[in-house]
Amino acid sequence: MKTFRVFVKRPLAVLSSMLVLSLVIVACSRVPFTNRRQTKLLPNSQINTLSIDQYKQFLSDNPPVRSGAQLDQVRRVGNKLVQAVQKYYSTNGMTDDLKDFEWEFNLVDDPNINAFCMPGGKVVVYTGIMSVAQNEDGLAVVMGHEIAHALAHHGNERMTQQLGTQGALMLGDAILTMRQGAATDEASAARAARTKTVLLAAAGAGAQVGLLLPFSRKHESEADQIGLYLMAIAGYDLNAAVPFWKRMEAQGGATPPEFMSTHPSPSTRQANLQKWIPEAQAIGAQYRK
Ligand SMILES: [Zn+2]
Repeated sequence: MKTFRVFVKRPLAVLSSMLVLSLVIVACSRVPFTNRRQTKLLPNSQINTLSIDQYKQFLSDNPPVRSGAQLDQVRRVGNKLVQAVQKYYSTNGMTDDLKDFEWEFNLVDDPNINAFCMPGGKVVVYTGIMSVAQNEDGLAVVMGHEIAHALAHHGNERMTQQLGTQGALMLGDAILTMRQGAATDEASAARAARTKTVLLAAAGAGAQVGLLLPFSRKHESEADQIGLYLMAIAGYDLNAAVPFWKRMEAQGGATPPEFMSTHPSPSTRQANLQKWIPEAQAIGAQYRK
């Protein structure tokens, strides 16, 4: 009966825990390709809205390259990888999971060795990484890796981890309010603003969603693995992966955002890639039939 008393004495706390629990249950999902169980509490649509704002800002600060052989390469590799994604998702009855993605590929004239894919599928490649990629197979390694971060919703998962229970409660409240339906446009605008505030708080003061949030070693490894599968389905040479990361390792110097992430040690990364290649090749052969 003691438990019952706790229940009635602290109805709000109990409700809150139930809310968190139900959110966590709803938010438990599996990562495509690897089938890892993950918890992501933030609505993808909200994350994508914020990402698109940042993406537009980024492109206005860094005007994209308008034409040329390098841009053609980036677009060609991007489109082939997205076709691979679509093939995989449609074969596995997961097309719905792609509805929040709007793929776009841009090249920016910047000597930094960098590339990123924002939540929702906005991909940016820096000209600085083109010489490290060397050819389309190398470019497919880096773009496959970046696209994998977005497909696996690593940004959402990372933000969820940063939120903690308190943040999850605030967010749950914001989502519930949002779901109660809009009475007026003003009310729905206020709700949207509130959700945005919570999401920004979740990302940490000043941190940029998706773009500057460093990934964990686990996420980096997973992006390597999924990237290989995408390359295989798209028909790229998987043996380009290890030499590409070796060239990246040899670069050193200033570290741009995505590569501030906790990357696996070069030897671990190489061993993992070698381990995944046969499986990726088998999957690739199956989808290219
Ligand atoms: Zn990465």
